[in-house]
Amino acid sequence: MSELNTPAKESNQSNKSKKNTQFSKLLAPLDLGFTTLKNRVLMGSMHTGLEEHPDGARRMAAYFGERAKGGCGLIVTGGYGPSKRGATHPNTNIMTSAEDIAKHRVITDEVHKYDSKICLQILHTGRYAYNKKLIAPSAIQAPINPYKPEAVTVEMIEGEIQSFVDLALKSQQANYDGVEVMGSEGYFINQFTALRTNQRDDEWGGSFENRIKFGVDVVRRIRQAVGEHFIIIFRLSMMDLVEGGSSFEEVVKFGQAIEKAGATIINTGIGWHEARIPTIQTKVPRAAFTWVTARYREHFSIPVITSNRINTPEVAEAVLQRGDADMISMARPFLADAEFVNKTAAGRSDEINTCIGCNQACLDHVFNGEMASCLVNPRACFETEINIVPTKAIKKIAVVGAGPAGLSAATALAEAGHEVTLFDGDNEVGGQFNIAKQVPGKEEFSETIRYFSRQLELTGVTVKLNTRVTANELNSSDFDEVIIATGINPRLPPIEGIEHKKVLNYIDVLKHKKTVGQKVAVIGAGGIGFDVSEYLVHSGTSTSQNIAAYMKEWGVDMTLTARAGIEGVKAEITAPARDVYLLQRKDTKVGAGLGKTTGWIHRTGLKNKQVKMLSSCVYHKIDDAGLHLSIAGERQILAVDNVIICAGQDPARELTEGLNKPYHLIGGADVATELDAKRAIKQGLEVAVRL
Ligand code: FAD
Ligand code: NAP
Ligand code: SF4
Repeated sequence: MSELNTPAKESNQSNKSKKNTQFSKLLAPLDLGFTTLKNRVLMGSMHTGLEEHPDGARRMAAYFGERAKGGCGLIVTGGYGPSKRGATHPNTNIMTSAEDIAKHRVITDEVHKYDSKICLQILHTGRYAYNKKLIAPSAIQAPINPYKPEAVTVEMIEGEIQSFVDLALKSQQANYDGVEVMGSEGYFINQFTALRTNQRDDEWGGSFENRIKFGVDVVRRIRQAVGEHFIIIFRLSMMDLVEGGSSFEEVVKFGQAIEKAGATIINTGIGWHEARIPTIQTKVPRAAFTWVTARYREHFSIPVITSNRINTPEVAEAVLQRGDADMISMARPFLADAEFVNKTAAGRSDEINTCIGCNQACLDHVFNGEMASCLVNPRACFETEINIVPTKAIKKIAVVGAGPAGLSAATALAEAGHEVTLFDGDNEVGGQFNIAKQVPGKEEFSETIRYFSRQLELTGVTVKLNTRVTANELNSSDFDEVIIATGINPRLPPIEGIEHKKVLNYIDVLKHKKTVGQKVAVIGAGGIGFDVSEYLVHSGTSTSQNIAAYMKEWGVDMTLTARAGIEGVKAEITAPARDVYLLQRKDTKVGAGLGKTTGWIHRTGLKNKQVKMLSSCVYHKIDDAGLHLSIAGERQILAVDNVIICAGQDPARELTEGLNKPYHLIGGADVATELDAKRAIKQGLEVAVRL
């Protein structure tokens, strides 16, 4: 590797653009030898679905352009397959023709307008491809894929390596500043490295040296082809979190070989997709895995990026100050707020719309084949479609209800220039998010309330708390229009004895902190039933606030002695605070309706706490003896101290009765069935854009 390609670990260059000493490390440039990144922030790779959209080039230019304009130093695109068989899905777009290259130039040109850099991610999915003709080092099916791969022949391997090189060259022609080679998360390169997936007995399998040869050859040959002035990031799986993954020593050797082969930067990968340890969801502590990067950093001489659940500039700065890494990768936080870096630099970090790690509009959408977006920022990936423009006809608007729907509507309406008054009967804004944030592992939900509270100040909304509004009051006011965002009323199922003193609802428990006994039945196993159960089995703080406790709970070895971070490690789960039965009437698996990428985490969490999850329940009555019910036809009594009702909700729209002003229903007040904050916030923004 030439001198030009050997970047300094720390840039000595003076930081002329540095405005904010609180974030002196995060905002410092990074000198890569042949080019300089303006700060230490990388927008991590996310497939959004824009890649396949017919108008994808224009929309991606707007999407990435906003993030570049927002100050991000280096952006990595979603993963592009180097070959048809290596792509995520048969319909996934890959870059092959001159026309494709021209489309990508629309994106790179837009990003370069803002002195930002962009790399294309090369992602060979191997046995994770949702493609009947998928390939892998060995014909071993992934537990998360219905398709079994064909093992690649030696001749095919040469073709696959060349396909990485060809895509890197095309990226260069499309004016990308570099590529990221995806070598982690259990994808093709990782499948070669690990014995779990590589059982070949030729020169590409067997010894560790043979197993890492594929990844090393890919990087070496890309470097030979693209020359010295092109960034190559290698995403290295630092902790596989699956049986049969790599050991610490092997990862060090692999990383060093990758560095020698010509990589510019090493990025951190944590856990294969099939691993059963949550690595990014909201209950994962912030910056939970930067200690892993820190352990490897001293073994490499090129810059190292760390990642996973870093969602505020304060946390990112602390990670860099500790010396865990040279740079920070944040992916979802850039869906939540395109201006993350500029706000940080201007000392306005309290204005950042923080990613709460819910996965509801990003990963869940992608896995359901929908366009990605963001629960807290519905404009994400819709930059060309949804825009707040200054109004030409200023109206006086009353927004009733300061839950997610009302907050979103009020702030967007005020931003457009309307005179907005926001009312809430409660003494604080946030609606049900104030209840959600009480749930262990959902502490992040308070960030959304903080963000909107600041937006209310910035946009000049008049806020009237402790004010329960009536139709009469609105009728006699001078408001031109009313937005009804009054949310929901919890449903009380018609069960005999529902008035018994041992019956509580989730608001009694989570908000009013009513005393709950040792033995509890929860009626209703939707999102709220799960959350209430989680709350009830915990005592004291949750492990989402404590990295060491979290690693113990999920059986991760923080000494990195155990192979892949987990082999032979026993999870240490604290005893549940209560005995909980979580019940539903349906005969389906309990929790089947939870989020696609997070449902397993909720189910596993409760199973570990010995919650008894029962379906096919018919509730007969509640009395001093407990809850009388039939489970799969068998009558029994659960001798519980309390029965907690989490049986869904109905719209709270009493305000519409007798209201003679023009009004719009949003959020739970509109439709309570399958209501979530994603819809509530989106509807709030949409009504504002329409008015
Ligand atoms: P609400 O949040 O209910 O807000 C309505 C507001 O209107 C309230 O503040 C109320 O005081 C006020 N109000 C009502 N009537 C009047 C009146 N006449 N005058 C003045 N003010 C009035 N959603 C997710 O997407 N993901 C989750 O993980 C998630 N977890 C949750 C966990 C729990 C424990 C709970 C309870 C909810 C959770 N939700 C979650 C659901 C989410 O919070 C709701 O979908 C969302 O809050 C609905 O927003 P909204 O604005 O329509 O109503
Ligand atoms: P929900 O998801 O609709 O669940 C309601 C539960 O109550 C169901 O399990 C239902 O199952 C049961 N039920 C309905 N009517 C009943 C009746 N008459 N008698 C007895 N049981 C009845 O609603 P929720 O749990 O209240 O959640 C509200 C919304 O908040 C959800 O739509 C969800 O999107 C959102 N939320 C999301 C999360 C998340 O993690 N993403 C977390 C919390 C809340 P049976 O009919 O089978 O009994
Ligand atoms: Fe973050 Fe949730 Fe938005 Fe995804 S949907 S980016 S996890 S806040």
